[in-house]
Amino acid sequence: MRLKIALSKGRILDQVLPVFERAGLELAEHPDDSRKLVIPVKSSPISVVIVRATDAPTYVRLGAADLGIVGKDVLMETGGSDLYELYDTGLARCRLSLAQLSNLPATGKPVLGKIKVATKYEKISREYFASKGIQCEIIKLYGSMELAPHAGLCDRIIDLVDSGSTLKANNLIETETIAHISARLVANKVSYKLKREQLMPLIDRLKRAIV
Ligand code: ADP
Ligand code: MG
Repeated sequence: MRLKIALSKGRILDQVLPVFERAGLELAEHPDDSRKLVIPVKSSPISVVIVRATDAPTYVRLGAADLGIVGKDVLMETGGSDLYELYDTGLARCRLSLAQLSNLPATGKPVLGKIKVATKYEKISREYFASKGIQCEIIKLYGSMELAPHAGLCDRIIDLVDSGSTLKANNLIETETIAHISARLVANKVSYKLKREQLMPLIDRLKRAIV
């Protein structure tokens, strides 16, 4: 049986490909040049499956992939259960933050009426405000959160921040870090038991290529 590794498209894939190279895992085709979503690793019984970041945990959880490299943000939002989080790769580091238009009072102080927050991360946001005892309306968006306050959709956003330059360019200030995010190596629970002998050397090889 070929081992399958689900890789999140985008930033994670960009940072994982050099790690694969250092680990001596050469893809038969470059994902950018290929329309294939399942790409074999040369001279090795491994394939990578290139998927949407938010779909990666589903592939691993249901056993369509034995391993996955997935953002902690996605794991937190999908509950993170039903798979093993094996290792923090330290790749694709960023933070999940609360940001607001620069002329608003901070959420820590009493706010009149409900605050309105736009985010991709509905579950994390709901839990965050519940833990603070702050009433809020969560508005689910799929992209470009930083534009929403300017269109009058909301007054705050919860989104990933790296350098902070996108926030700054949109007149938003970061008021709180909700979580530190990085890409995690995860495993399907059944694979981890039944394919242990095959998986362990591969996991070690990847870990060594990261540090
Ligand atoms: P998409 O826009 O399709 O979600 P991204 O490449 O933006 O794809 O995000 C995929 C994953 O990469 C996220 O789930 C997160 O873990 C990580 N990521 C996103 N934005 C950043 C960032 N600014 N810095 C570092 N990692 C990020
Ligand atoms: Mg993005």
